[in-house]
Amino acid sequence: MLIAGNWKMFKGPAETAEFCVELKRHEADFEEIDVAVSPPFTSLAVAVQILAGTDIAVAAQNVHWEPEGAFTGEVSAPMLRELGVYGAIVGHSERRQFFGETDEGVAKRTRAALDAGLSVIACVGETEAEREAGETDDVLRRQVSVLEAEDNLVVAYEPIWAIGTGKTATPEIAQEAHAFIKGLLDVPVLYGGSVKPDNAAELLAQPDVDGALVGGASLDVESFAAICLTATRS
Ligand code: PEP
Repeated sequence: MLIAGNWKMFKGPAETAEFCVELKRHEADFEEIDVAVSPPFTSLAVAVQILAGTDIAVAAQNVHWEPEGAFTGEVSAPMLRELGVYGAIVGHSERRQFFGETDEGVAKRTRAALDAGLSVIACVGETEAEREAGETDDVLRRQVSVLEAEDNLVVAYEPIWAIGTGKTATPEIAQEAHAFIKGLLDVPVLYGGSVKPDNAAELLAQPDVDGALVGGASLDVESFAAICLTATRS
């Protein structure tokens, strides 16, 4: 069971330090699960430093496929490794939607990160229009087909209509999509989309839900810790 917090473009180094100091106080409560936080690039170093010596991992929110080069604004896997970062989120729907990331790019980023020794949380998920048109399976098949199963790869199923909207997939919808994804690729699958302390238990209780990628509710240390605590009981 993995609970990962995606902070998106929130929390500079000072706020990150405050959060990590507080999260460390809760660490003993969720020893049986894997926990990760994913701050913006400029806050990774302080998170790694404060969480060193704990089992709480630090992941980046993206990673480029080349080790170095003329790619303004990008950060490579070896650079993240040098910082002590354990992994990266790849292909988040906001990257696909606002920054034009494609399945091919997601495949290249994932491959490079895994080859460099990082763990990867690769995000997939359909839009509301795709779900209504009955295209969910086709979209998931297309997005998952560019990935290869590996020990350090985890997929996050994040239906786009449930991200930041307060609309959570029902446990049944999540379970169905997770089972479908696992039929395509034998890796753990996290659920993401408006996971909160009060709905985490029913989602995490589904047999093919192996954890959660949490956005909004991961920004508050108490609500993130509450979700982690729920996961230890699932
Ligand atoms: C996310 O951005 O990965 C996410 C799941 O966000 P939220 O929990 O806010 O819906």
